[in-house]
Amino acid sequence: MTIRFEDPRAAMVGNVELSAVLRGRSFPIERLDDILSAGLPWVPTNSCISASNSIPPDNPFGPIGETKLVAIPETRMLLPSRDDRPTMALYLSEITHHDGAFWEVCARSQLRRALDELKTRHGLTMKIGFEQELYISGLENVHTPAYSLAGSRRVSGFAAEVQQILGTANTRVDQFAAEYGEHQFEISHPVRDALRGCDDVVLAREAIRDTARGHGAHATFAPKPDMAQAGSGIHIHFSLWDEDGPRTAHSGALTATSGAFAAGILKNIEAVMAFATPSPNSFQRISESSWVGVFACLGVRNREAAIRLCPRSPKADGSHPGASLEYRLCDGAANPYLALAAIVRAGMMGLDEALDPPVSADMDPAKMTPEARAERGYRRVPHELQPCLTAAAPIATAWFGETFWQAYDSVRRNEVNDAEKAGAHYPAQLARAI
Ligand code: GLU
Ligand code: MG
Repeated sequence: MTIRFEDPRAAMVGNVELSAVLRGRSFPIERLDDILSAGLPWVPTNSCISASNSIPPDNPFGPIGETKLVAIPETRMLLPSRDDRPTMALYLSEITHHDGAFWEVCARSQLRRALDELKTRHGLTMKIGFEQELYISGLENVHTPAYSLAGSRRVSGFAAEVQQILGTANTRVDQFAAEYGEHQFEISHPVRDALRGCDDVVLAREAIRDTARGHGAHATFAPKPDMAQAGSGIHIHFSLWDEDGPRTAHSGALTATSGAFAAGILKNIEAVMAFATPSPNSFQRISESSWVGVFACLGVRNREAAIRLCPRSPKADGSHPGASLEYRLCDGAANPYLALAAIVRAGMMGLDEALDPPVSADMDPAKMTPEARAERGYRRVPHELQPCLTAAAPIATAWFGETFWQAYDSVRRNEVNDAEKAGAHYPAQLARAI
């Protein structure tokens, strides 16, 4: 199928809210210049609406206040003309107070702050490359073998359309391939600076959802849409750099910097999970020996560790410009900016405390005896969200601010209520939105 791009007649400025759903306002293209310079009024409570469209009764804003969506021009992506839908321009945004000041509930602004602090206090920058797993239903109801040519061919026309759309935002995906589950796929993103890398993740999700709608199909990044199939993870590859070059690994091992950073994440993993695996459906994915990484440990090339070191080949001087650490306990219910901001904040705690590098796990910790795991300090992560929220409360208030935490905690508890009300329909309900 070929797709057409025309001069857009409408645009939308959107923001990925705390529920991971992109929401915003659309308007005729004639208003674009004004909106790019002045911003668009936005309701603070909107940032708290759940994926099922319910509003947390105890969110800190209620009917009061006004914020502003401030579009980021370089994130402009065109969605093609389809049948009766003309070409539309999408812009991602940050949310500010109405006078343009930093608003702590804006996830992208929080990530920007965390990255600025990583640079100013520790002299470090971060590059990232996400991998995202997803299900597409309704494309073709033929079951193809996992990772097969048939599976990749089935989606190749679809993937070509997605690449064309992403090209309008000067980005692409590096892989669009069949995954293990029936109708499951994986995309991987090129390595980029952390903020733009997260923008790419969001743009790709919207490009894929729009393409699916164009095919009468449905795409979802929900963590466990079908209990009988493999879960969908979001794997966050990151590397640390200082002005002298790569600092993730040296001569096959973690550096003191990346070791302390990874140890900080593992020490605070429950708090990080409050952002990276933030929905009851996330915990339907999290189980032993299914490559999710349910033990708080690091492993070299080990997919059962919460953090996997992918060293790649070193150069003659021992440096590893291609090395990354892969944080695996994340999924599509997470706001990607917040998941990464939590990783950066927890990593910085490890740097501040000069923690020792974690002991590498060279097997599936689920196959070890409890005593052997305890000796090495490999603890099993919680089985549900509440302990993660409890662990996060004091830490995340310090990371992101009190108002932020009140808003975020209300969103998460409200989603637990949504899930209880929907019962067995909850995974499908979530999968309609994310
Ligand atoms: N689907 C697995 C997950 O839920 C990951 C499989 C893989 O390593 O690609 O994280
Ligand atoms: Mg995968």
